[in-house]
Amino acid sequence: MEDIKFIIFDLDGVFYKDEHCIEGGKEIVEHIKKNDTEFCFLTNNSNHPLNFYKNRLEACKISVEEDKIVTTGVLLQNYIVKNFSTRSSIYVLGSSFLKNSLYKLFDFDDTNPDIVVLGMDENIKLKDISKVINIISDKTKIIASNPDKLIPKKETFGLECGVLIDIIKDMTGKDIKVVGKPDSFAYSYIIEKFSADKKQTLMVGDTYETDILGAKNFGLKTVWVNTGNKLPTSIRDDNFLRIDSLKELVKFL
Ligand SMILES: [Mg+2]
Repeated sequence: MEDIKFIIFDLDGVFYKDEHCIEGGKEIVEHIKKNDTEFCFLTNNSNHPLNFYKNRLEACKISVEEDKIVTTGVLLQNYIVKNFSTRSSIYVLGSSFLKNSLYKLFDFDDTNPDIVVLGMDENIKLKDISKVINIISDKTKIIASNPDKLIPKKETFGLECGVLIDIIKDMTGKDIKVVGKPDSFAYSYIIEKFSADKKQTLMVGDTYETDILGAKNFGLKTVWVNTGNKLPTSIRDDNFLRIDSLKELVKFL
């Protein structure tokens, strides 16, 4: 770990669960700031503007610039702008923040859109999912925020975008592009944005299937932290560090 110069931290289940702060977050950020290690936060969440995550970290006594926070809202916007013409029409199933940010850039179309975007929002109803299935045609490209099925809450779990991906894939038979972890788009966006060196970059997260597998496949070092999602019981992978909380990470860096 001595040669680590850049750390990508997941947020949910690592620094907080809802409004509940997880121990060790403030300490690890202070520690790496002292060591001049660069860092950023990468969340598979697309529901809110950057200042929401900044405020949530501030409530846990961690002060960071918005520029260090990357959400799947940011990734979706970048991916779509890079890969589609500005004349493309779009329909978004997700939070009002995600809708507003994409409807500013592309034409809203709720009958036969070129692009359908899947995010997550607690207020999504079954009829909203049915509508999306009905407006997807041969030409429609489907782009999703993240494949996580659950998000850890303080004592429970909530449903995430992966559940929508499953239903819509099943019903339409279409491929769905994911921009968040574990997709390499998320990691390459960060490596480029922060001019980081892949070989000296560490990913710290609580979800094996996204944080750990995605980062490993991209060639990063990884640490799994046991404060959010549990490890899959079928796991046969010993090649990553496991710690109980961020507090423990201090001694490795
Ligand atoms: Mg997480």
